[in-house]
Amino acid sequence: MLIKTFIIIFLALVSHIVSAAQPFAIAIHGGAGTILKSSMTPELEAQYRKKLDDAKQLGYSILSSGGTSEQAVLSVIKILEDSPLFNAGIGAVYTYEGQHELDASVMDGKSRMAGAITGVKTVRHPIELASAVMHKSVHVMLSGSGAENFATTVGLEQIDNSIFNTKRRFESLQRAKAKMKASANWLKNEDFRYGTVGAVALDKFGNLFAGTSTGGMTAKRWGRIGDSPIIGAGTFADNKSCAVSATGHGEFFIRFNVASDICARVAYQGKSIKQAGDEVIFDVLEPVGGTGGVIIIDTKGNIHMPFNTAGMYRAARSNNGVDKVLIYREE
Ligand code: ASP
Repeated sequence: MLIKTFIIIFLALVSHIVSAAQPFAIAIHGGAGTILKSSMTPELEAQYRKKLDDAKQLGYSILSSGGTSEQAVLSVIKILEDSPLFNAGIGAVYTYEGQHELDASVMDGKSRMAGAITGVKTVRHPIELASAVMHKSVHVMLSGSGAENFATTVGLEQIDNSIFNTKRRFESLQRAKAKMKASANWLKNEDFRYGTVGAVALDKFGNLFAGTSTGGMTAKRWGRIGDSPIIGAGTFADNKSCAVSATGHGEFFIRFNVASDICARVAYQGKSIKQAGDEVIFDVLEPVGGTGGVIIIDTKGNIHMPFNTAGMYRAARSNNGVDKVLIYREE
């Protein structure tokens, strides 16, 4: 009897030590751009910090109670899609025609399965639809009305496009249109697109997952699609290297295949996520005028969040001591 009790206590202790040693972590972003303390009110800054903190805490508690990295990433992104502060879901930017066309993608680092949707107008949580494409279709990417039809077949809530309206983004559209009249180079202005959301996580089972959701770029037309729903550009995950979610000037992130380039440097050149991320953001993108940033996580729970803009809304927490919410160039 005594020996049996001893064995049970011993096994419980071993399992506790093993699970305590297993790293898990989450990082999230809410967009990068000309985010300056001088142009922010204390109230607005406090709202951003609170929302990022709430989302990060939710993701961390899912991971800490044994949830998967996929559950953590999807839950966090849904919270951010529901917040008018960010350019995803409610609060998404307006197209030239005055609507909202939403893009999102997810990728699973264990299986390298992925799902993406583009130009969707009537789905409340675009990230859920991207996840459904991964789990319930034989495809990776669906677009426009086809993606919306698919959403109804998998029972996702359909809403009117106006649910995503906000006064702040409507005013941005008016300013963007005025700029477009004055200069064809308006696209370079960061003010018209920041606020994309994304999350990357590592769970206790050693699996990575990444997701990104956006309204894209203010006054976009002709069905413009950015990097966020493009696997390898805006989102990537592979348990052999890292998971990445990007935000920034999508055209550059597509051309330079940013998310998978970072993971390729980790996989094939043995670089750390810090080296790989810094190289791509500062040495590859910056010289050609590509602005933005990424959040990166590896299978040891390391996190790196480089950006080459004034700021990037971001937060991270790991079970090895990282816990932060940041906006500007601060550590
Ligand atoms: N990357 C997004 C796009 O180009 C915008 C952003 O991240 O701010 O659609």
